[in-house]
Amino acid sequence: MNPILPGAAIGVLGSGQLGRMFALAARRMGYRVHTFSPDSDTPTGQISDVEVTASYDDLDAVRSFASKVQVVTFEFENVPAATAAAAAAAAPVRPAGSVLHTTQQRIREKTFLLDSGLPVTPFRIVRNCDELIAAIAELGCPSILKTADFGYDGKGQFRINSPTDASLAWRSIGEREAVLEAFVPFAKEVSVVAARGLDGEFMHYGVIENEHRNHILDLSLSPARIPATVARDAAELARAVLEKLSVVGVLCVEFFLTHTDTLLINELAPRPHNSGHLTVDACVTSQFEQQLRAVCGLPLGAPTFHCPAAMANILGDLWGNGSPRFDRAAALPNVKIHLYGKSEARPGRKMGHLTALASTLDNAIETVLAARSSL
Ligand code: AMP
Repeated sequence: MNPILPGAAIGVLGSGQLGRMFALAARRMGYRVHTFSPDSDTPTGQISDVEVTASYDDLDAVRSFASKVQVVTFEFENVPAATAAAAAAAAPVRPAGSVLHTTQQRIREKTFLLDSGLPVTPFRIVRNCDELIAAIAELGCPSILKTADFGYDGKGQFRINSPTDASLAWRSIGEREAVLEAFVPFAKEVSVVAARGLDGEFMHYGVIENEHRNHILDLSLSPARIPATVARDAAELARAVLEKLSVVGVLCVEFFLTHTDTLLINELAPRPHNSGHLTVDACVTSQFEQQLRAVCGLPLGAPTFHCPAAMANILGDLWGNGSPRFDRAAALPNVKIHLYGKSEARPGRKMGHLTALASTLDNAIETVLAARSSL
């Protein structure tokens, strides 16, 4: 199949910061970018050649959007299946709608992982309160009830500490199809961001170590401070996921690493991931350029790191007393400032991130934390 070369137009479903950084990478390489979402003046739209504002359910608008680009990708995995199918009628969609279908719903995702023989957090499918009571009896407490659909950053989750929490938990997630997961007392959370080309070529960025705060990613560090054998295993698991799903593009596998060095897959994200943002400044090829190369059918670029790196997210909470003092972070010469062009800063909203580069990981962590505190 002929590669899609610079000068061509790429369509992005979704319009957040992931699309923005994708668009920056695409425009740098001379591609045109069209973005589609229900919003306007979006993080992606600000960088795109064309911003289409329409509902994902407006399939005529989706078809018209796709007919004007050479390939469609997405930055938001909760695009409805019908939207991906409508786009696919007019242009190739990469990764395919089938990848979205599997990964946008926890029951399908976990069932896929289990059926593929991949290690997954113990879970039970729960469709009513009686099934929840039975599942709690099997998995024990603590456990976490998660809605099957549209959960991210800890939304739609309830931690169950005792079997008597069952009916409260069931009501609090809206009495919707869900999974009950055993609580994993993990030693670390880690992720592997990986890419697979149209010809099956595979690349990964090694293992990234992640710290969450209030269910939202707070810090990402590379390389992860884990044994080399675990890092190799994690990369091989990521390869298996991308190959079994026939991904063309970038996918992130999030893991729990237990105190006995066992890896359990928590979640898949079929797109560049917040934990891979440090690749923009630290790597020869960023995760966004890698997505571009993959969906255009180009060879993948080197994922090599120039040096250790640490990334700290910047949430809307920091805008409490007006604009944060970015001049202070700018005074640290090895810190890169990324802001997503969002006009409204709400608590918990991802507004940007900082990446520090250093000759040692400890120094990168210290620098990025100092930079964020200075804001
Ligand atoms: P999720 O939205 O499923 O990725 O969950 C968000 C965060 O909640 C994870 O990154 C973990 O920090 C925590 N968490 C989720 N599920 C579990 C679990 N089964 N055991 C322990 N912590 C969890």
